[in-house]
Amino acid sequence: MTRLSSSFFYTLREAPAEAVAISHKLLLRAGFIRPLAGTAGLYAYGPLMQRVLQKVGRIVREEMDATGAQEALFCQLQPAEIWRESGRWAVYTQDGTMFMLKDGQGEQAREYGLGPTHEEAVCDFVRAGLHSYKQLPFHLYQVQTKFRNEKRPRFGLMRGREFIMKDGYSFHATPESLGETYQAMYRAYTNMFRRCGLNFRAVEADSGAIGGSGSHEFMALCDIGEDTILYCDAAGYAANVEKAVSLVSDPEAIGPGSYAVKPTPGIRTVEQQAAMLGVPISRIVKNIVYVALYAEADPRPVLVLIRGDRQVNETKLKNRLDCLDVRLATEAELAAWVGVKPGFVGPDAPIAGVIRLADHSVDGLTDFSTGCNQDDVQCVWANWGENGLVLPEVTDLDTAQAGDRCHLAPEATLQSARGVELGHIFKLGAKYSRPMQVLFADETGELQPALMGCYGVGISRLPAAVVEQSHDNDGILWPIAIAPYQLVLVPANVAVEAQRQAAEELYGTLTAAGIDTLFDDRPERAGVKFKDADLIGIPLRVTLGRDLEAGLVEIKVRGGGEAQKVPLAEALVQVKGLIERLNSAQRSR
Ligand code: ATP
Ligand code: MG
Repeated sequence: MTRLSSSFFYTLREAPAEAVAISHKLLLRAGFIRPLAGTAGLYAYGPLMQRVLQKVGRIVREEMDATGAQEALFCQLQPAEIWRESGRWAVYTQDGTMFMLKDGQGEQAREYGLGPTHEEAVCDFVRAGLHSYKQLPFHLYQVQTKFRNEKRPRFGLMRGREFIMKDGYSFHATPESLGETYQAMYRAYTNMFRRCGLNFRAVEADSGAIGGSGSHEFMALCDIGEDTILYCDAAGYAANVEKAVSLVSDPEAIGPGSYAVKPTPGIRTVEQQAAMLGVPISRIVKNIVYVALYAEADPRPVLVLIRGDRQVNETKLKNRLDCLDVRLATEAELAAWVGVKPGFVGPDAPIAGVIRLADHSVDGLTDFSTGCNQDDVQCVWANWGENGLVLPEVTDLDTAQAGDRCHLAPEATLQSARGVELGHIFKLGAKYSRPMQVLFADETGELQPALMGCYGVGISRLPAAVVEQSHDNDGILWPIAIAPYQLVLVPANVAVEAQRQAAEELYGTLTAAGIDTLFDDRPERAGVKFKDADLIGIPLRVTLGRDLEAGLVEIKVRGGGEAQKVPLAEALVQVKGLIERLNSAQRSR
């Protein structure tokens, strides 16, 4: 219930130039958010935004509570020690994600991090009070600001350095119990995102730095999404490209020939190599030198072999190596280690301490062309087991792509879509509970680490994804469940006493009926008020104008066609009916 005349309210005609995403533009223009001193990734949530966040928070809490999860609140300022215990201090400080602080100067000062996620803090809380299997399972969650020094904060609330997350952590005695809660969370997430009016899809996901086995991401489908989803409707398969698998096509045929070393001066790409040698790209083995970076060990060179027409999936590579990050070797490193330019490394490159891995796509490949550790030449009609070429350990390092055949329904091909990650659910197992000693006595009295699940939702990202999916040329179209107000009440001209008076009365009636009403009682022209109401995206607009003389008010659904005129006395009934209709349209989507 808000009177605009006594509120801090503004809208902008133009979005600031730095805004690219439509949701970022609209939320800025409509005054929902404002960057703090122009700093990337730091946004104040204005009163309108706060109302949306609270409604999202309410839906999320309802769905969480319905599963039996309990809300708590953990510390944001976290001593480095707990992160050292889990082994993540090095990970989060070296990749720059952690905002670090000290509580003083010099040797005595203690180190802290601002919580980017809360596994450690929750484990510390739970281990003090957990004794017996009889206390398990339980699930603790919180809704709170997180801090991450993101490398590329962008698109406004989509990727902030300070943002609101709902994070939950469940504790279990058995994998079956963890599995049950995981399924319950899958359903709860499906419900909450549907209730928020999102078009989304659950996909199989990589577990990333948080770790563990088994995870799904819930993706809002929209073009600016930073994630690529691959899916096959025939098999009901959907996965983040970081994790997706596919069937790689057979290599193209090649005529008979015998091993030879051929000149390929100056080539930079497999396309050039294929053209110069007259071989199909799918009969080329690329030998790519990476450097694996570890938290607490020296970097190591890694040689990855993959078919010419395929790309290395660096997430799979990082997971296989269990390292912090991978990067391509530099030209200088290649020169020092192999003595060649990029493109001329061989599968057998003599690099000290190298880890050799081959993607599936080169397993069984015959009559291929590849580098020979010598500049400006390649060999052709090479085969594993001949001429000193040995196939190293084979693993899946391939980037699946749209058009590949689905591994579950080989007659169907994968399609791709862009997605914004709304939520992520993980089975962590004992990844944190073991190092942090979150133990319970099982039925035989033996101490065991509790099995954990963790479940996150981007509370402040979610409304940005909604706006990305739900807007028109005039502004935002909030789904009624999370709109800052259900209804905007507009006296067309407050200088006309009859209009002002009737609007005041109707405001009282609507408010008393529990309808979340924004009363635009500003002494502005009707056109200005309509524009603002459309821009900020309020689902229903009730206008009191000239027709009031005939006892009529105008009711309009945002984005829903023509306004209808109804008798003033019936306005409340009509509004209630429309709210019910909008709500049930939302529920049945
Ligand atoms: P992303 O891949 O987008 O960086 P993440 O895998 O790091 O996400 P989680 O650690 O799983 O994210 O966090 C849970 C949820 O918090 C995400 O699903 C997302 O909705 C939200 N989130 C993560 N990072 C940010 C951010 N920088 N700004 C806003 N929301 C975020
Ligand atoms: Mg992230």
